Amino acid sequence: MGETCPFGTDVQRYWDKRFEYFLRFNDGIKIDKEGLYSVTPEKIALEIAEHTKGDVIVVAFGGVGGNAIAFARTGKKVYCIELDEDRKSFIEHNAKVYGVDDLIHTIQGDFFAKASTVSAKTVFLDPPWGGPSYKESGSFKLNNFSPDGTKILDYAFLNFDEVVLMVPTIFDFSEIEKFDKQYDLQDNVINGEIISQTIYFS
Ligand code: SAH
Repeated sequence: MGETCPFGTDVQRYWDKRFEYFLRFNDGIKIDKEGLYSVTPEKIALEIAEHTKGDVIVVAFGGVGGNAIAFARTGKKVYCIELDEDRKSFIEHNAKVYGVDDLIHTIQGDFFAKASTVSAKTVFLDPPWGGPSYKESGSFKLNNFSPDGTKILDYAFLNFDEVVLMVPTIFDFSEIEKFDKQYDLQDNVINGEIISQTIYFS
């Protein structure tokens, strides 16, 4: 029997993967329920960091720092925005666990208010998918992101040269044709299973 999830049985399946999310989970990683079901697994976050060209990255939706830490581990400077005050402090703490806190500057607040206050050419976007039940709709549209994905991308294309967006496997790609941008696609694979995809707009 595995350890019981402290955040409820409905997210036990995420808790069981905590060492996939953070290899160093037992070195004192701090997380909450939303952080747990939202975090990008360490292996995937590192692959995304290696595939991203810029040296200075705005992580728009910080969570508990899964992506921010990986970007910093590949030597990039990170401005990490997170709306929730608790999770913002978890990012700072978790960055220390990985020894990369000197490369991550956290900002508490709304992406649309804060992103233009920093000087960076690249933005990484992993906006909320609406909780663990996101798959029930069968197909995922830009307006299933919260905030709305169209608003996020419009803002991102206006303020950044390199835009990287993580999407669920059920994402409807016809949705991004309206932006008329070229892009590369990366499958995010864990144990032979595609768990999400990353879009690199150029
Ligand atoms: N990739 C992250 C998880 C992101 S979860 C990781 O690996 O840890 C999405 C996060 O976006 C949540 O923590 C939520 O609080 C935050 N968020 C939601 N709306 C936001 C906004 N308008 N501005 C900044 N952060 C926001």
